[in-house]
Amino acid sequence: MKFLRSLLVLAPLAVALRLDRRGMVVYDGYKVFRVVAPANSAAEFEAQLESLEAIDLSHNHGHVDEAHFDIAVPPESLASFELLNLTSEVLTEDLGADIAREGPLAEYRSESDLVAAAALPSLSWFDAYHAYDDHLTYLKDIQSSFSSNSELITAGKSFEGRDIQGIHLWGSGGKDSKPAVYFHGNVHAREWITSKTVEYITYQLVANYANDTTVKGFLDSYDFYILPVVNPDGFVFTQTTNRMWRKNRQTRSGTSAVGTDINRNWPYKWDGEGSSTSPGAETYRGVAAGDTPENTGIRTLGDELAAKNGIKLYIDWHSYGQYILTPYGYSCTAEVSNQDKQDSLSKNTASAIAKPYGTRFTTGPTCATLYATAGGSNDYVTDVNKAEYGWAIELRDTGRNGFVLPPDQILPTSIESWEGMKYLFANM
Ligand SMILES: [Zn+2]
Repeated sequence: MKFLRSLLVLAPLAVALRLDRRGMVVYDGYKVFRVVAPANSAAEFEAQLESLEAIDLSHNHGHVDEAHFDIAVPPESLASFELLNLTSEVLTEDLGADIAREGPLAEYRSESDLVAAAALPSLSWFDAYHAYDDHLTYLKDIQSSFSSNSELITAGKSFEGRDIQGIHLWGSGGKDSKPAVYFHGNVHAREWITSKTVEYITYQLVANYANDTTVKGFLDSYDFYILPVVNPDGFVFTQTTNRMWRKNRQTRSGTSAVGTDINRNWPYKWDGEGSSTSPGAETYRGVAAGDTPENTGIRTLGDELAAKNGIKLYIDWHSYGQYILTPYGYSCTAEVSNQDKQDSLSKNTASAIAKPYGTRFTTGPTCATLYATAGGSNDYVTDVNKAEYGWAIELRDTGRNGFVLPPDQILPTSIESWEGMKYLFANM
């Protein structure tokens, strides 16, 4: 555990990236390994990874008693990696081949011009990944099909000036009359399955409001605020330049490193254990608490919701690992006042998720279950916004495909998540 904690604040790995003709980073021949925490020191391990120019995919996933680190090793370093004799398993033989299997981004043809304005867009949206602009169009089309009970919203702007867009849905009580359910997708740019999943949940709420009394009950009880892509700059960058990008695209004076981890930037328990002060690190927390434009935007919206009718449920959607994580991330011993209820709700939500395909999710407080996080969203929303439930969910899978989840898993992942949410909305 000591090893795991110390690794979280490591300096960035030096990475020499190759680009293809379109300017995309090439991952052909990169092999992904899960390294079980080696017995040597963190500094030694860091030096080893740096010498390999390995990509740090998920250096902090894993139970505290079985810490492991997922790294992508470039082809030219594979022989050196073997010589290190680390305890490891191969997750992927060729990351580039996995990315190729993800397929080109599909084209979304908005049907709103072709059919009646009230028609829902097609579910074929969930058969492939799409460009960021198509996500905006799809959201707009969903909203048009439910125009008297929804509106498009924005939560400030990204560093590069994009609106952070979302949708607000309500039921029979009218707009802004109920406690909020507040969802964030894709705060980490490479976690593409998360925006698709929250869009599917949005779709199901809209599609079934009129004819399903259970779903009607959800919208009649809560105002839903759903932001599928809260890190639009990073998301676009994963589609134009580097599929493995995680952070935002913020530049800062005094460093050539780009990007701050928006989910280590929340102004609550910001400078504790579980974030990095190093600008090149994947968990770089920023110069000051809350100093990313994206955090300012989504935090301001959450603050407003908290002040208005309160936040019943907040979920920050992530991948990968298959976890439902309750507070806290900043401390492994602090407990929320409704811990027992959170435990039973998250366990039963996991059971509901398992129903369609048997996918197993692990549940528990973030720090005790997975790793320490400082400046994370669910701690802020729980303690500052006084949300009743402030969670993070890590979607499929457990490492085989990691962030590059094949398109044929978009729909199953979405369906099982919706099963979980139906349980949660009805029982929270
Ligand atoms: Zn994430």
